[in-house]
Amino acid sequence: MKRVGAHVSAAGGVQNAPLNAIEIGARAFALFTKNQRQWQAKPLDDKQIEQFHLNMQKGGFRPADVLPHDSYLINLGHPEAEKRQKSLDAFIDELNRCRQLGLVYLNFHPGSHLRLMDENSCLDLIAESLNRALDTTEGVTAVIENTAGQGSNLGYCFEHLAYLIERIEDRSRIGVCLDTCHAFVAGYDLRTDETYRETMSAFEEIVGFEYLKAMHLNDSKPKLGKRVDRHESIGKGELGEAPFRFIMQDERMDEMPLILETIESALWPQEIKLLYGFSE
Ligand SMILES: [Zn+2]
Ligand SMILES: [Zn+2]
Repeated sequence: MKRVGAHVSAAGGVQNAPLNAIEIGARAFALFTKNQRQWQAKPLDDKQIEQFHLNMQKGGFRPADVLPHDSYLINLGHPEAEKRQKSLDAFIDELNRCRQLGLVYLNFHPGSHLRLMDENSCLDLIAESLNRALDTTEGVTAVIENTAGQGSNLGYCFEHLAYLIERIEDRSRIGVCLDTCHAFVAGYDLRTDETYRETMSAFEEIVGFEYLKAMHLNDSKPKLGKRVDRHESIGKGELGEAPFRFIMQDERMDEMPLILETIESALWPQEIKLLYGFSE
């Protein structure tokens, strides 16, 4: 079965996210477990956690249907040691919050070299941060997202994802989330049967589908290879509907969170229906 959802609001507390997901007809969802633009967050309290569980049950969501996203401030490959440590501490806190909520994934962007070092040295730092984070936490898989490659952000090519995975000591706790918009603007075409097959074969060969834990389903405002991160509603951008039809008919994406991060949240119920229609 396909499990489509969206990155829903957790305003008023994490316990509200599953309710917001139910409202749009989702079978999966993403959320921030804290304010994504601040370093500090109040710890989750027991009442909130209990209510979160109750609301998860209400929607029939399993832990693996939820893809929490970490804060935008975190850069596990920050070239300055002090700032990298601050990011690592925040990342560990996020892993622990997921664990407290009984969740099994934390989705993150690899990091940026800020033009202060070369790509591989920065990827080495990210891998080192990840190993330290996984070593001091339990139960949650770190899910690397491929990026648009805007600015100095790493993770825009499958080789970067493979490079990181190769350096992780506990590979049972590392996974990948493929974002369709990011892949497309990073130069991976998905618009025809043939290009979809090529891109997915490259992913299989370089990364491996055993690491694919989730996808972000976004159409793209920029054209192929533009390396600019601008999402668009499904079918209204440069990707069009075809790639989403291929994904919804691809068994390799069964039983994983397929998350909309499209720009018009009012359209999510329609987009979810459209996507489920593709898999029938
Ligand atoms: Zn994304
Ligand atoms: Zn994006």
